[in-house]
Amino acid sequence: MSDWEDEYDGDGVAIEKPATKPAPTLRKLPPVESQGQSVSFGVRNGSKCGASRDWRADRGGEGSEFRSRRGGGEGRPFPRNTERGGPGRPDSRPPVTFAVETALIGRIIGRGGAKIRELEESTGARIKINKGDYEGEVVLFGSPDAQQKAKEMIEDLVADGNFRSRDGPGRGGHYGGGGDGGVRNSSVWSASELQASDAAPPPVSIDWNSIRENKGKYEELKWKDLPPMKKKFYTEAECVSILTAEEVCEWRKENNNIFVDDLKEEGEKRPIPNPCRTFLEAFELYPEIMENIKQVGFVKPTPIQSQAWPVLMSGEDLIAIAQTGTGKTLAYLLPGFIHMDGQPVPRHECGGPGMLVLTPTRELALQIEMECKKYRYKGYKSICIYGGGDRRAQINLVKGGVDIVIATPGRLNDLQMNELINLHSITYLVLDEADRMLDMGFEPQIMKILLDIRPDRQSVMTSATWPTGVRRLAKSYLKNPMMAYVGTLDLAAVNTVQQTVLIVHEDEKKSYVFDFIRNMLPQEKVLIFVGKKLVADDLSSDMCLQGLAVQSLHGDREQCDREEALKDFKESRVRILVATDLASRGLDVHDITHVFNFDFPRNIEEYVHRVGRTGRAGRSGAAVTLVTRENWRMAPELIPILERAGQEVPEELVLMAERYEKHKREKDEGNSRDGRGPRGGGRGYGGGGGGGGGGGGGWGRRDGGGRGGRDRSQNWGF
Ligand code: AMP
Repeated sequence: MSDWEDEYDGDGVAIEKPATKPAPTLRKLPPVESQGQSVSFGVRNGSKCGASRDWRADRGGEGSEFRSRRGGGEGRPFPRNTERGGPGRPDSRPPVTFAVETALIGRIIGRGGAKIRELEESTGARIKINKGDYEGEVVLFGSPDAQQKAKEMIEDLVADGNFRSRDGPGRGGHYGGGGDGGVRNSSVWSASELQASDAAPPPVSIDWNSIRENKGKYEELKWKDLPPMKKKFYTEAECVSILTAEEVCEWRKENNNIFVDDLKEEGEKRPIPNPCRTFLEAFELYPEIMENIKQVGFVKPTPIQSQAWPVLMSGEDLIAIAQTGTGKTLAYLLPGFIHMDGQPVPRHECGGPGMLVLTPTRELALQIEMECKKYRYKGYKSICIYGGGDRRAQINLVKGGVDIVIATPGRLNDLQMNELINLHSITYLVLDEADRMLDMGFEPQIMKILLDIRPDRQSVMTSATWPTGVRRLAKSYLKNPMMAYVGTLDLAAVNTVQQTVLIVHEDEKKSYVFDFIRNMLPQEKVLIFVGKKLVADDLSSDMCLQGLAVQSLHGDREQCDREEALKDFKESRVRILVATDLASRGLDVHDITHVFNFDFPRNIEEYVHRVGRTGRAGRSGAAVTLVTRENWRMAPELIPILERAGQEVPEELVLMAERYEKHKREKDEGNSRDGRGPRGGGRGYGGGGGGGGGGGGGWGRRDGGGRGGRDRSQNWGF
């Protein structure tokens, strides 16, 4: 588990965490009468799962794999430019050059030059870096496409430095890990170490040009004996075919204003299948699926299902922009079942799984597995592979033969590299919550996993947001996808949540949260979000000491304790859960009545996700958010969200936003006087205020605009 879920300070700047064991976490509910002996029922995180293992080694496959690779021979020094065909080599295209702060250069290089090699391999560009005192110069060689792709990837890599870099830009010192290995904050390379590594040439010479030139041939060779595959399983029901364009348009409007588009880049756009408004319209030819649906008692498809099913059963790739709670899991699972069953080669002869779902967290993986089991189809076996789980047991399950693999990228990549799993048999691929996986730095592992999955597979990607990184991933790994966009980050859609914002001082926060809890009604349930794991431990311990039934959830807790915490909360054995943003997405607990933001989240998207944990399944909910002066940079982004949801905007928040905007203007003016220009900063909401729009080419929205209105409209183009 990436530990940047909480490693930021109030202003979004990542902070150094002492390498000590985490504070004790109270795992079990204390009986009220044990108040006086509180210390004795405080149990360390690891205790339940037995053993007093070093907590650093316990943190899941992703983290340990990352460290071992660093120590294990792969960490060759960053190759010199001569190796890489730098400026000395003639290139038909003029190089593209741009500046990057010196403090962020380490991220581009990566440990032992791993990142820069990866960038070169995945983009086809050659990258040279000239280091300066304050700024480095990045020079890109290669085709315009390769240069553009490399530039985008590098910009992504350095863009959100505000909260990933431990020391902050310009202050030197440690470098953020930049997504290598999924442990962003773990890099401890100093600038001098990097420079030293830069100075030593690698012992072996690799002819990247030849590798690149022959890439196509290798690919062809690798995939030449593929068994046949089938993708089309859809026959449109007559009552769906006869819908007029107006009727379809009206239906989409009434169903969360669902928006569907063909993102095919070349040639004529394909007709978009009409939505299936009932289960029968989609699955009339698949009685076993109909039977399953009847058993779970669902009344009708959710909007994303209505649109996703005909697209996916027609064999097209799909990007579903939808949040958890919209029924997106079933939207890709059922067509996946049909796809696997319909393959010309019978399942038992395939020699490996047919469906792979990659997902960012263990919790989500387990949740998806539960869904899989609920709709049991043809006796298909599914397994969950995630870091922190029993590796040996997972390997044994794989060996025993499985049909569906649900995995976090780190652990799956580990099994792949050790040749413990066959990925060649996969014909149906799901990248679930792609934005979250990118946020957690899983891109390198995803890239490696996809190298072993046949290129003509059918792919589905889900994401709650549509930022540049996700677009790039979609463009690289999906083939002419269609897109269905449902719901929105716009909180106006979550009009069942009443949002209260309180401007407070940092040291008043505890009394506010305890006040809130004192006033809770017995049937209410609150999810309290904090920014740091230590705060989660601290706050839940305080609550325990006061005799409150509380659980805590964060990435430093043992997997079994996390599962237990969640179960206790789901089943209402505790009504207070203190959690980091690990719980902001994907947790499927229907009856949370309140979200309490003890610490403001690191960005506005996370705020929306957190608030969306309440007011689910048609219930009403309320969110209370504490805002301190350290959170001032979030004020301008929070106000439009409150306004659009028709919520009260406190006067103090408006003043705070004004002060921040003024401060930013002055800072930018100062920067441009220095000749440095304003810094990009900020992830922005909805693709950074439109994502720049231009330059993307292709994949543009046909109706030429976003839905959200204002300046925050989504931009669909890459
Ligand atoms: P998801 O967005 O996939 O996390 O789904 C959220 C919840 O909605 C899960 O508990 C699903 O079982 C449930 N669900 C999925 N499809 C439907 C449907 N058509 N009607 C009612 N609930 C559904």
